[in-house]
Amino acid sequence: MLVSAQEMLTKAKEGKYAVGQFNINNLEWTKAVLQTAQENSSPVILGVSEGAGKYMGGWDVVVGMVNGLIKDMKITVPVALHIDHGTYEGAKAVIAAGFSSVMFDGSHYPIEENIEKTKEIIALAGSKGISVEAEVGAIGGEEDGVVGGGEVADPAECKMIADLGVTMLAAGIGNIHGKYPANWKGLNFEVLAKIQEKTPGMPLVLHGGTGIPADMIKRAISLGVSKINVNTECQLAFAEATRKYIEAGKDLEGKGFDPRKLLAPGTQAIKDTVKEKMELFGSINKA
Ligand SMILES: [Zn+2]
Repeated sequence: MLVSAQEMLTKAKEGKYAVGQFNINNLEWTKAVLQTAQENSSPVILGVSEGAGKYMGGWDVVVGMVNGLIKDMKITVPVALHIDHGTYEGAKAVIAAGFSSVMFDGSHYPIEENIEKTKEIIALAGSKGISVEAEVGAIGGEEDGVVGGGEVADPAECKMIADLGVTMLAAGIGNIHGKYPANWKGLNFEVLAKIQEKTPGMPLVLHGGTGIPADMIKRAISLGVSKINVNTECQLAFAEATRKYIEAGKDLEGKGFDPRKLLAPGTQAIKDTVKEKMELFGSINKA
């Protein structure tokens, strides 16, 4: 059964580790993430962007697939199904479809409008026990057409949004989506510490987890980050393993063209990446 992200993140905050949000794109992706969580007894958050939701056929397909896998694969670790960078309309749609957690990304609105819309989503989600993530200070890079300038969040604005009663708060601290450029300056720990100071007890969310060095991840967790989003890294691992399989001509040997064989190395690569992240985040055996 799907659960809200509230309890797993409260525990993570107290225990000084982070729960990974792994974005899913299809059946193989979802199976790989759920199996890895179960094998390692780790709580997990499945992230779905609006683009990925559309790609999979729609929100009902996603909810049906995830609930079906949890039942048929006998997944007993806590699993939250969460819309990633949801628009106002998107957040409302997934609440109706059966998601257990939502992110409403109002970071591109003026702060007053972000507050108004976040309040509405909190009221709607709260009545169903669904957790809510809000964002302050647009996170750079590009995710499904949402482009941010890589700003650093204002700790005072973070407090304003946190006080509305969100479950978790994403704040830009120099992190970006996708691959990090060679001249990236790193995370802004000074701002992260100030945000944490203004929002004690609030699980903070780090977006753009791909390619942030391990020591920075650990330091961010020590400063209050309890949820870390990973997307691009699984995509790169899947693509590389699939390319190797094709380049080695394995699809031309026997029944190597069978999708169950063709997609197996990529699926295993996702599992390996997810496990590596769970180890780094400290969520193994915390289910
Ligand atoms: Zn993000």
